[in-house]
Amino acid sequence: MSISVEGEPEADYLPPSDAQVGIDVGLKTFAYLSTGEQIDNPRFFRKQEAALARTQRRLSKEHKGTRQRGKRRKVVARVHERVRWRREHFIRQEVALLIKQFGFIAVEDLVVRNMINNPKVAKSIADAAWSSFFAHLLSKAEEAGRAVVRVNPAYTSQTCSDCGHRQDMPLSVRVYECPSCGLVIDRDHNGSKNILDQALEAVGRQGRFIRRAPPAREPWGVVTKLMIWVKYPVPRRQGLRQTPHAGESVGHFLPQHVF
Ligand SMILES: [Zn+2]
Repeated sequence: MSISVEGEPEADYLPPSDAQVGIDVGLKTFAYLSTGEQIDNPRFFRKQEAALARTQRRLSKEHKGTRQRGKRRKVVARVHERVRWRREHFIRQEVALLIKQFGFIAVEDLVVRNMINNPKVAKSIADAAWSSFFAHLLSKAEEAGRAVVRVNPAYTSQTCSDCGHRQDMPLSVRVYECPSCGLVIDRDHNGSKNILDQALEAVGRQGRFIRRAPPAREPWGVVTKLMIWVKYPVPRRQGLRQTPHAGESVGHFLPQHVF
């Protein structure tokens, strides 16, 4: 339950959490967390998709302008509505759980991950679910005082999360087997760990207040607008102060590739 006080959005913040997570969305499971947990695709994704295809097929068989066609169109609209409602319900539920548990959440910027252009994996419902998931995650994180960092999705699947070795990982390969260090790990679990690592690197691994979203034209970076304490010791060699001033921005400390 949240108490809201006029003029003080902080009233909605959840109690602080040091827990961190990287999230990799996929097709086999809805998402894999760097903690090793998985969020399964709800079974209704498939079912609803089939229902949608069926009603649309029926609609296309009717001649234009007939009453029957009008009826069919209404059925299609109803199924669409139901799909959307159930999907949003699922997403709200999952986002609420994530936000409650984790204070620092790392995700990929999927806009540039061209999964959707691959016809083999183009699943309209999954696509819609991901974009809705990210949008909802960002807005809820902001309300709750959580940090969300989007990272460059390049190489999150190809890189070994233990030793940094890189290899090709076609989508059909479900397990990452590292020839260099011997790590054997689920493909998406490996990805989620890389996503978290990259995000932590992006904020410099130093205990810092992170500030503001970068302008919309800049794809990566810290996307919640809040000042959030991230607990990491500041390495001396970087010559940064150990204790930042309250409200200080660290935007200029972020590596260039992040912004
Ligand atoms: Zn390795």
